[in-house]
Amino acid sequence: MIVGKRKPFEEIKDLIGPYKKVLNVGCGTCVAVCLVGGEKEVDVLSAEIDMARRLSKEPIDIDSITVERQCDREYLEVLDDKVEGYDALLTMACGAGVQFLAERFPETPVLPMVDTTFIGVNQGVGWYEERCRSCSSCVLGVTGGVCPVTMCAKSLYNGPCGGTNHGKCEISDDQDCAWHMIYERLEKQGRLDGIIAFTPAREHENQVPRTTIQPGYKKPESEQ
Ligand code: SF4
Ligand code: SF4
Repeated sequence: MIVGKRKPFEEIKDLIGPYKKVLNVGCGTCVAVCLVGGEKEVDVLSAEIDMARRLSKEPIDIDSITVERQCDREYLEVLDDKVEGYDALLTMACGAGVQFLAERFPETPVLPMVDTTFIGVNQGVGWYEERCRSCSSCVLGVTGGVCPVTMCAKSLYNGPCGGTNHGKCEISDDQDCAWHMIYERLEKQGRLDGIIAFTPAREHENQVPRTTIQPGYKKPESEQ
């Protein structure tokens, strides 16, 4: 899932700046699971903003709504007849959701309330760990399911480096060496040949936004 964290409140106050009537829009998917931008968090933030503005004698009219998913156009439709009359939209979605919302309502300022941090997994209540950096050249098939981009301090596609030490990474004894983990996993599976397979360095020259179109995809009529 996409993991994020709420922006510092001072930054939120600055972003909202002069606006007097705003709609705070939550997202019911990833950011709700990581307890950052779902219905509950939207209500909490709206209450905090309301209180702060009252205390500073600059009252704000703030409403809240949470949609199923902000990175999917069909779930934004419910907002079409709701945004009129607001000075700005606040959004608690990840960066992708913010952009879709801003695209749908280009006349209205759309302000992010959340910093998107990474694609991760849930390790415990309130503990999320990065596991993918969407590198677009996934090597998990040859690394025994251990991601060297996120788990290795140097994001080495071919490792280990010279700093590996009895299974630990040179940056800290608390940090397992990703390539040691890869070695152990492949050994368990009888696939150690994989560790000598060379992965070419990632191509960085093409920096246009990446897209993937699934076979059989047809543009909806509304977008043709
Ligand atoms: S190698 Fe790691 S960063 Fe790249 S796509 Fe696979 S899991 Fe994501
Ligand atoms: S010691 Fe292991 S995890 Fe640390 S940077 Fe080197 S290869 Fe990566």
